[in-house]
Amino acid sequence: MFSKVLIANRGEIALRVLRACKELGIATVAVHSTADTDAMHVRLADESVCIGPPQAAESYLNIPSIVAACEITGAEAVHPGYGFLSENARFADILEAHGIAFIGPTADQIRTMGDKIEAKRTAVALGLPVVPGSTDAIRSDKELLRVCEEIGYPVLIKAAAGGGGRGMKIALSAEDVVQAAASARAEAKAAFGNDDVYIERYLATPRHIEIQVLGDGKGDAVALGERDCSLQRRHQKVWEEARSPALDEAQREKIYETCADAMRKMKYRGAGTIEFLYENGEFFFIEMNTRLQVEHPVTEMITGIDLVHAQLAIAAGGSLGIKQDEIRFQGHAIECRINAEHPQTFIPSPGVITHYHPPGGLGVRVDSAAYQGYRIPPHYDSLIGKLIVHGNTRAECLMRLRRALDEFVVDGVQSTLPLFRELIDHPDIANGDYDIHWLEHFLAKDAAA
Ligand code: ADP
Repeated sequence: MFSKVLIANRGEIALRVLRACKELGIATVAVHSTADTDAMHVRLADESVCIGPPQAAESYLNIPSIVAACEITGAEAVHPGYGFLSENARFADILEAHGIAFIGPTADQIRTMGDKIEAKRTAVALGLPVVPGSTDAIRSDKELLRVCEEIGYPVLIKAAAGGGGRGMKIALSAEDVVQAAASARAEAKAAFGNDDVYIERYLATPRHIEIQVLGDGKGDAVALGERDCSLQRRHQKVWEEARSPALDEAQREKIYETCADAMRKMKYRGAGTIEFLYENGEFFFIEMNTRLQVEHPVTEMITGIDLVHAQLAIAAGGSLGIKQDEIRFQGHAIECRINAEHPQTFIPSPGVITHYHPPGGLGVRVDSAAYQGYRIPPHYDSLIGKLIVHGNTRAECLMRLRRALDEFVVDGVQSTLPLFRELIDHPDIANGDYDIHWLEHFLAKDAAA
């Protein structure tokens, strides 16, 4: 195992990784921008290095500064968290060239899955079911119209370099598809510097169901169950649960085995998430995230497996430590992302948290770097913390979540807590009866009322 790890991130995820390191007796190095001098991850780490000014491009994304911080402190490995450099293949390559371990997959695996067209082609080769559509970038209007004719309208035009829901356009018919493709291209070029687009059938009412995987990089892999992340706003997940209220045991077993098998074939290394849309009993691969995800705690709560411990062990050359048939799923878990945002308009609300009281009690976990008096800087994402609740059944989990939401106090800034207090009493939520559009419809009705 490593003796010192540098955490190239901030906020709750930096704390999450730090806690796992402490448990394993690994010394920790925090890095921070000048805006984060008072941040919790800096206070709790064994050492810290300031890597630049507030702008992420000059600090948390500054590869030379982070490599220098490793060299100064003698860190043997870097955990990238999520976001920032976590899916940056060049960063993984540079660390390797400096003899520093990247706690994540190989640079090639990141590269393959980072290009969505390449990822889809790889998914097909690995035996994963994909959304019907093109498996190549669309080169001409003629080809565009031919592919759309084949898969049928409506279609979704997506950017090869896409992320965060950007560069996606729906076209309902041949009349508007050429125009929609041109605008998707322009948006992709501006956002990602790459205007390659591809086409997928637009699924009308799917759920978003993703499978957590772990691979040892040598051909062994397991699937740690699914998460249902259908409750989204602007393609951003808001509420995640494990397991999905929509699947039965036979469907689960089949998709777990398909995913674990795919990861064995590609000799995947580390933690990853294979994302699917699920409609009428069928799974359709949309992308793979080659990192730890925000919503990983719901999987930990139902499996009892610490995913960061597993990441550290794998990066140090160890084995998975568990076989597929040894994994036991216990109860139900739900995560709510509590953001410093207005609960209706979602406008960010940075500022000082004047009162902070996180909930506690059996089955309640809060992953957060917030504290009373903490000033949420305006430079980064607006996550205050994640409330994760576990229960023996989904009903018990909801009951506990309602209580925990009531207890949670965040004053001084706006937060999305009131939204969750509203959601929890909705019959569709109680019944687990929602798809990827449900939350947008709910919010639109709320705004009209
Ligand atoms: P990004 O990388 O930009 O997040 P994804 O491919 O992961 O893009 O898709 C994000 C979200 O967009 C999905 O969770 C789903 O809500 C919606 N989406 C993606 N592909 C389709 C599709 N073919 N049909 C309908 N909705 C889709």
